[in-house]
Amino acid sequence: MYTHYLEHKVFKTASLVADEMHYPAYVIGGFVRDCILNREGKDFDIVVVGDGILYAQNLARALNKTKAITIYKTYGTAQIKYDEIEIEIVGARKESYSPETRNPSVEQGSLEDDQLRRDFTMNAMAIALNKDNFGVLLDPFNGLQDLANKLIRTPLNPDLTFSDDPLRMMRAIRFATQLQFSIHDETFQGIKRNTERINIITSERILTELNKIILSPKPSVGFKLLDEAGLLEIIFPEFCNLKGVEIIEGKGHKDNFYHTLEVLDNICVFTNDLWLRWAAILHDIAKPATKKFEVGEGWTFHGHEFKGAKMVKRIFTRMKLPLNEKMRYVEKMVLLHLRPIALTKENITDSAIRRLIFDAGEELDDLMLLVRADITSKNENKKRRYLENYILVEQKIKEVEEKDHIRNWQPPLSGEEIMKTFNLPPGKEIGIIKTAIREAILDGVIINTFDAAYQLMLLEGEKLGLKPQL
Ligand code: ATP
Ligand code: MG
Repeated sequence: MYTHYLEHKVFKTASLVADEMHYPAYVIGGFVRDCILNREGKDFDIVVVGDGILYAQNLARALNKTKAITIYKTYGTAQIKYDEIEIEIVGARKESYSPETRNPSVEQGSLEDDQLRRDFTMNAMAIALNKDNFGVLLDPFNGLQDLANKLIRTPLNPDLTFSDDPLRMMRAIRFATQLQFSIHDETFQGIKRNTERINIITSERILTELNKIILSPKPSVGFKLLDEAGLLEIIFPEFCNLKGVEIIEGKGHKDNFYHTLEVLDNICVFTNDLWLRWAAILHDIAKPATKKFEVGEGWTFHGHEFKGAKMVKRIFTRMKLPLNEKMRYVEKMVLLHLRPIALTKENITDSAIRRLIFDAGEELDDLMLLVRADITSKNENKKRRYLENYILVEQKIKEVEEKDHIRNWQPPLSGEEIMKTFNLPPGKEIGIIKTAIREAILDGVIINTFDAAYQLMLLEGEKLGLKPQL
């Protein structure tokens, strides 16, 4: 008996309404799975044997939520928003796919029909809601056993499940990553045989699953599975290109695919931010395109940060990631990811640090997290050297910040002040003087105060043949 999962008021009401209508009703899918796993189940999926929309309307009335119902006629589903919870309601259905077009034709069915069209055994479990069987678990494919064994498995022949809706391949790998489960061997072989069919799925649906993989505690698990299955090459070829090691004159470089995954896992310990995680994924994306073997130097990837930053927009566009300030943030991270660590003992000068603080702006802390995560050498000596250097840069940033207040720097002298002083209309002189002041502050030629900036303005004005108005 699973009555203890059904203590929420919604289930009591759902039960009463179902009995009044003489409809068998069940809570099904993710909610049941998450309860059994002791994870917080956020959404309730309810399936009734009968008219789902009619039931949803009655339930909304009984819950006093008639304003919070949305009906999706074409799908025969409805959603009720109940405080923070989304209740999804659907009439049990049987799906059959035409073998030519694979378009589903949907007709009313039994609970068992509905369970058969679900993606995995653990997602097909239902708990009855009617009074006479309230709390009874209906688990036709032994999902409970698979949950206990941490196994993801399709209820039907995997070729059928994956061919009917190829997004399920992404979902299998997403659940494996989120829950740290294994994919049953026959199910995984089924994915391998059906990878090409992912091409019929929209980029948006693929991205939703990919982002859930990226937001998991250890996303490398998912990327390795996507790669092994053959899906990564189709959905994210640039990332696949990072794979491999070339050896010339006995010298190899690191495998940038596994390096990137290590950086990604590293940064996940410190941040849940999707975009910082994306920055880790893309930080070395242009290494294949910039790779060279130079005599005397070995392998180089000169300019991969510039080229990589340029690749971000193309990748975001294709994958339907947002082309907004989130994208610009990722571009900036990729562009700057070498800057802090490129400062070696000899050149950690105040002015180099001031420039770094100025260029990174609000993103400085995130950038430092990325740089820290990026230190992954197999050579312990090298790793220690980089780490020591990193700590030095970090300390120096702190010192310079306390002294100079460069973070979120605002010019100590405004354009209006310059115009007023020289009685000038807006024009290029203002820009020239402002740049000179900024550069002098960053280089440490003058200090970051109004008075120092004012004096420099007078000098720069003189150079331009301007006279202050007294
Ligand atoms: P989460 O909410 O954590 O993403 P979930 O399993 O609840 O996981 P939903 O997308 O909310 O996923 O779907 C709810 C249920 O609907 C699933 O548990 C599953 O039974 C079914 N389902 C969802 N998507 C599919 C699909 N593509 N193919 C078959 N069944 C699906
Ligand atoms: Mg859900």
